[in-house]
Amino acid sequence: MKRTVLTLIACALSGTHLFTQAQAPAPAAQAPQIEVKKVDGTENVYTFRNQNSQSMFIVTSDGVIVADPVGYGRPQGGAQYLAEIRKVTNQPIRYLIYSHHHFDHIAGGRAFKEAGARVIAHRTARERLAVLNDPNTVLPDETVNDRRTITLGGTVLELIYVGQNHSDSTLVMRLPKERIIFVVDLLPVGQVPGRGMIDFYPMQAEASIKQILSMDWERLIPGHPGDGGRLGTKKDAQDQLTFLQDASAAVKAEAQQGRCWEPVESQLKLPKYASWPGYEANLQFVLRRYCALWGRGT
Ligand SMILES: [Zn+2]
Repeated sequence: MKRTVLTLIACALSGTHLFTQAQAPAPAAQAPQIEVKKVDGTENVYTFRNQNSQSMFIVTSDGVIVADPVGYGRPQGGAQYLAEIRKVTNQPIRYLIYSHHHFDHIAGGRAFKEAGARVIAHRTARERLAVLNDPNTVLPDETVNDRRTITLGGTVLELIYVGQNHSDSTLVMRLPKERIIFVVDLLPVGQVPGRGMIDFYPMQAEASIKQILSMDWERLIPGHPGDGGRLGTKKDAQDQLTFLQDASAAVKAEAQQGRCWEPVESQLKLPKYASWPGYEANLQFVLRRYCALWGRGT
């Protein structure tokens, strides 16, 4: 009896965690689990959404380039993604490119590897994945240090490392002709970042975002659908930078008065951002990260 009660409590708690863990609000209840959309104004760029995670694929005359497999927690997720691509094209899958090493974006790559894709990631991603040895995450075949350009069937895709930011293995993917970038977790579109702040380099992230802002692009495909499912703009990237700078400055002042972790983590507010999705649930994780920086030097 006691055990049943404890189990129920545990389930209730984990349910709460699932709810608050999302970096973006879940799509409307009637939205399908999986959704493929062609990006407006392009001939061959698509977004693929699996629940609350988003990927990109590009169909060329010489094969397909796929970003993150986004099969986390769904053993058939990679195969489902591949099946959706097969509804668009029969071209071979040439590349699978990891945005960074976090499992919630890159689990599920086996189906692509078995279909013949070369798996590419930043050097640090491979080093970390080799140690972690996650059964659902395929190791990269090739790695990138600072930069690599993939040219396939008339499409150019740049893979650019802009340093530590969200994780130490993020690759910015830029389509120069289409003026589109794919950036995961570093630049949530119109939203307050959440638990991903546990692997976040605050100082370096600001420099990374400034570097991304200096690149030539018009639209941003985020790794979680933006507010209302939209793509991002340079204004969104600038807004995210300003949000991080505001959070950093606010916590710095408190931390130097000895107010970290508490009361900052539970009580500090940034009302300017109260209307952003994720504000109530996620602000605590942002404050914790900046408390670590300014309060502990970590
Ligand atoms: Zn991440």
